Amino acid sequence: MRISELLAGERVSLSFEVFPPKKAESFDAILHTALEIAALQPSFMSITYGAGGSTDQFTRALAQNIQQRCGVPALAHLTCYGTGREQLHSQLAAMREAGIENILALRGDLPEGVGAGYAPPPGGFQYAAEMVREIKGFGGFCIGAACYPEGHVECPSPSLDRQRLKAKVDQGVDFLTTQMFFDNDLLYKFLYQIRELGVSVPIIPGIMPVTKGAQIVRICKLSGTYLPARFRAILDKYGNTPAAMQQAGIVYACEQIVDLLAGGIRAVHVYSMNKPAVAAAILANLRDVL
Ligand SMILES: Cc1cc2nc3c(=O)[nH]c(=O)nc-3n(C[C@H](O)[C@H](O)[C@H](O)COP(=O)(O)OP(=O)(O)OC[C@H]3O[C@@H](n4cnc5c(N)ncnc54)[C@H](O)[C@@H]3O)c2cc1C
Repeated sequence: MRISELLAGERVSLSFEVFPPKKAESFDAILHTALEIAALQPSFMSITYGAGGSTDQFTRALAQNIQQRCGVPALAHLTCYGTGREQLHSQLAAMREAGIENILALRGDLPEGVGAGYAPPPGGFQYAAEMVREIKGFGGFCIGAACYPEGHVECPSPSLDRQRLKAKVDQGVDFLTTQMFFDNDLLYKFLYQIRELGVSVPIIPGIMPVTKGAQIVRICKLSGTYLPARFRAILDKYGNTPAAMQQAGIVYACEQIVDLLAGGIRAVHVYSMNKPAVAAAILANLRDVL
């Protein structure tokens, strides 16, 4: 099923995410985990992609298995960093063959030491917007893209980033998923700002249930994500106690989601990170509010 159709439906959408293995020997274990999450019957599942193509076949295989074995629509991520036009076309053909209808089109995280203005291979793509246009031209896919309520970390200003987002959406994006955020007010403000720019596609807020304290501080620093004082207090108190941190992280994520639903949001994506227990706990907490 196309995610754009799913988002237009009556039901609130709650989706989960998994990441593929880097090596073939870990595939079966991660497939097992992905199927455990899919068995919870989320609205759809997204499968991340190693920038540069390192997980190409595993992302596709996970997506295909999730769809065929659990009947859950899959959103396969695809990055364009380092990819040429011909390579993209063969990836799209393989996805079509595998029955994948939904793609999250991303530039990809640049490897360490590669500057923002890197030169793509001849005929390749510098920004996600260029890949969106190419996928649109190829035809047959529902196309999602990323957006950043606090602005993308490489962009000199959030307002410039929003203008670039509008240009990306205009190339043929059907829906957007946000970067994680821990203060819902930032999301609400962002929604007003991009609606004013004329971005009208559905936006799926991305919520991260934090299970490891130290890790999240580092990730937020790198991505420029604001950690509100009340969330920092949770990290300070529970960050060194894994079980307590996981429980507190799930509660905080659920509270964010309930506030979003009460605020009229109809779709939420959970960065469940190959953790079936976390996905199950979120669903159990929310079952009656969805
Ligand atoms: C929901 C979500 C899922 C993700 N999944 C993955 C994944 O599976 N694999 C992975 O490797 N990474 C993933 N990422 C991370 C993502 O690849 C990085 O954040 C990356 O740095 C930017 O990707 P993008 O598609 O947003 O890039 P773009 O939209 O291309 O933007 C990248 C930067 O370029 C700037 N820019 C855009 N257009 C122009 C232009 N014309 N001129 C000058 N500057 C411009 C933007 O302002 C921004 O600063 C994900 C991110 C999100 C939010």
